[in-house]
Amino acid sequence: MQLHMGVFGHPVSHSMSPCMHKAAYAHLNIKATYEAFEIAPNDLELAVKSIRTEQLTGVNITLPHKVAVIDYLDEISEEAKAIAAVNTVVHRDGRLVGYNTDGQGFLDSLIQESDESIQNKKVLLVGAGGAARSVAVSLARYGVEELAITNRTLGKAAEIAKICEPFQSINVYPRGLAQAGLTGFDIIINTTSIGMHPDMDRMPFSLETLKRGAVVCDLIYTPLKTRWLQEAEKKGAKTINGLGMFVNQGALAFELWTGQSAPRDIMRKAVVEELMKERGD
Ligand code: NAP
Repeated sequence: MQLHMGVFGHPVSHSMSPCMHKAAYAHLNIKATYEAFEIAPNDLELAVKSIRTEQLTGVNITLPHKVAVIDYLDEISEEAKAIAAVNTVVHRDGRLVGYNTDGQGFLDSLIQESDESIQNKKVLLVGAGGAARSVAVSLARYGVEELAITNRTLGKAAEIAKICEPFQSINVYPRGLAQAGLTGFDIIINTTSIGMHPDMDRMPFSLETLKRGAVVCDLIYTPLKTRWLQEAEKKGAKTINGLGMFVNQGALAFELWTGQSAPRDIMRKAVVEELMKERGD
């Protein structure tokens, strides 16, 4: 049987998902297609209907549709409901079911790449946008010793703390206070877009007082090593970029669609090669 998948986004031409998923299908000899669909916000309802009429197996949902798509689905997972955003749709028995694999993708990458238990760690999230929301919910559901959040717009951080309340309470700190208390955190995660290509010289805040042995993460993977991660490395920190999160969220979607274990190493290699091609290496 041939499977048909894709990604709905606007803009979507830059998406790394097609090359990553196609590499996985080729590796496992799965007969499948994966297309990038450019969907303007006004066309989203029609596009979701086309998942049924075109017999698509499922789609990834990327910006700006992750919240709006919920209105057009039959059901959403408990995690997607808590996050209030969907990044993966599965067309199963005529029903469209929404999931969110972003937060779990990050959590898997943090657990795999930090090489130690994170449950006894104090974690600071910097930023409170859509990505922070999914990461916060996954960390809160998993449970860590302390979870804290800071953001330029503090109200958005407070909103995230509220949605995580059923799982774990989150301390909300103004940026100055988070900066002053940096030494108290074991894991610090940049979820803002600061430092992303082409604005690569900027950092969300100084890592001067970083604790020895801290783990510093960035959700960004263009570039693979942001200035924030470079500064963290200089302070002796273990660093984790956003590539693992991206690969894992795709791998989890792949597993929902195909029922097979995703070849994460192959998927990672495909994305790295595509990034290098874009850089002209
Ligand atoms: P978003 O919803 O637009 O949120 C952006 C965040 O960055 C907000 O917290 C915003 O603060 C902050 N911010 C932006 N410019 C700022 C500035 N000049 N000063 C201070 N704060 C600033 O974006 P998102 O969807 O959450 O994405 C955030 C980042 O995560 C992006 O770089 C994206 O590429 C990355 N991401 C990676 C993956 C992955 O798979 N690795 C997945 C999703 C996202 P305010 O609230 O104050 O505006």
